[in-house]
Amino acid sequence: MSSATPQPCGSWKHELQTAVTKPHALAFPMAGGPQDVDSVVRRYPMRVTPYFLSLIQQWEDPLGKQVLPNIQELTDTLPHDDPLHENRQSPVPGLIHRYPDRVLFLVSSECAVYCRYCLRKRLVGNPFVVTDQTREAALDYIKKTRSVREVVLSGGDPLLLETDTLNHLLEQLRCIPHIQVLRIHTRVPGVLPSRITDHLVSMLNRHHPLYVNIQFNHPNEITPQSTHACAKLADAGIPLGSQTVLLKGVNDDPEVMIRLMQKLLTLRIKPYYLHHPDPVRGTGHFRTEIACGLSIMEHLRGRVSGMGIPQYMIDLPGGGGKIPLVPESVLGEENGMLKVTGLHGKVYGYPGKA
Ligand code: SF4
Repeated sequence: MSSATPQPCGSWKHELQTAVTKPHALAFPMAGGPQDVDSVVRRYPMRVTPYFLSLIQQWEDPLGKQVLPNIQELTDTLPHDDPLHENRQSPVPGLIHRYPDRVLFLVSSECAVYCRYCLRKRLVGNPFVVTDQTREAALDYIKKTRSVREVVLSGGDPLLLETDTLNHLLEQLRCIPHIQVLRIHTRVPGVLPSRITDHLVSMLNRHHPLYVNIQFNHPNEITPQSTHACAKLADAGIPLGSQTVLLKGVNDDPEVMIRLMQKLLTLRIKPYYLHHPDPVRGTGHFRTEIACGLSIMEHLRGRVSGMGIPQYMIDLPGGGGKIPLVPESVLGEENGMLKVTGLHGKVYGYPGKA
C-alpha cells in the first residue's frame, strides 16, 4: 500500500545540512527565554530536520515538545545520566552486552533529530563517542563472543551512516558464523523520510534476516512522506516493528495512543514496545506515572486488535533488565520508590509513583 505521494525536498544530506541547530532560528515563540534555551542547547545539542519542523505548530505541541529544548532539562532533579548502567555493561566502548545472546552495537552517535527525552542524552551528538576504532573493537568483540546470535544496531541512528559504510558493517557482521539476526533501531523514517532511498533499501535487502524497529510517538508523525518511506522498507521484505516512548504531554492519552497504533498497523508496522521513560537526568518533565501507562494499555485492549497492542516495557535499574509491565508486577510503594517484580521473581526498586 504505497498510496502516499513522496515529497522529496532535496537530498537527505542537504536536509541534514539545513537542519535547525539553534533555537533563535525558529519562527514560533520560545518556551522560556532565549538565554534559557541557549544554555540547554550548550549542554544537550539540538537538531530538527526541516521536514520534522514543518510538522510542528508550536513549541510545546506534541511534536515540538519532543525535539525543542526546554529549561526543565537543566533543572531536573533526577540524579543519573546513565541509570541503566550501560557504561558498566560495555565490555568495549560502543557496545553494550546485557543479555547473553544479543548485543547493542552503537554504530553512530549522530541522529536526524535530538530527542529531548533520549535515554542516551549523555552521548548523542558527541562525535567522539563512536569512531572507526570503536566500531572495529565492537566487531572484534562480537566475533570472539560466540553466545551472541543477534546484533542490534543503534546509536545515535544507524541510518545516518553513509549507505556504503552501513553496508560494510552489515557485511562484516554477516561474515560472523554465529550471528543469525540483525536489527536496526531508527527514528529516521519518521523524521527524515528522504533518507529512505532506493539505494539504501536495496542495500538493506541484501542482509536478511534483518529487522527494522522504528520509533513513532504520535499519530501526527505519520504523514504521506513517512508512510512512503515505511512502504519502501516493507516492500523490500523487511519486517517492521515500532517502539514508542510514553511521554507526558505527547502521547499520555489513551485516544492518541489508539490512533497511533491503528495508523502503525496500516503502515505494515507491528507495534512492538511502549517504553516507560527511563529516569535519565534532564528528562524528568516527560515522565508519567506507571498507572498512566497501565491504564492506556487497559484502554487499548478491546479497542485495537491484538496485532496493534504493544508490550508496555520498563527497564529496571540495577541489572533487573527489561520486563513487560502488567498490573500484577507492581507490588506497592515504599519511600518514593515502586516495588516491581523483575525477572525470576526478584523485587526491584524503581523511581516513581504507582
Ligand atoms: S533518535 Fe533515538 S538515539 Fe537519537 S536522540 Fe532520538 S531517541 Fe536518542
